[in-house]
Amino acid sequence: MGVLRKTKSVEIVLHEFAKDSSAISVITLVERLGSKMNKTTVYRILNKLEDDGVLHSFLGKNGHKWYAKCNGCSATVHQDIHPHFQCISCGKVDCLDINVVIPEIKNRKVEVSQILLQGKCEECYIK
Ligand SMILES: [Zn+2]
Ligand SMILES: [Zn+2]
Repeated sequence: MGVLRKTKSVEIVLHEFAKDSSAISVITLVERLGSKMNKTTVYRILNKLEDDGVLHSFLGKNGHKWYAKCNGCSATVHQDIHPHFQCISCGKVDCLDINVVIPEIKNRKVEVSQILLQGKCEECYIK
């Protein structure tokens, strides 16, 4: 995959992620951007941004797909092996900056790991 062309649509999608560091579900993105571009374009841009190491995706509760900004990834290597946290009260999802050690499994090679922790986020926990 080549370097992403910074079209207007790409900028609009990236802008959604510039606001804060939490993840955004595809459903929400399509909803928010619905007036500016069609669903297919949103999907295509998200795929491309993931290929380019700008965003990473993971599955949240109910199998919904979420996207979040990458930190230090490139088109060749994604380093987003961190767990994600989904708040069961407010629904917010974000990346956790912690390291989970995946155990060595005999005769198997782990290539992808997805860990989704669910509970109460900082805001909901204090209330
Ligand atoms: Zn919350
Ligand atoms: Zn993440």
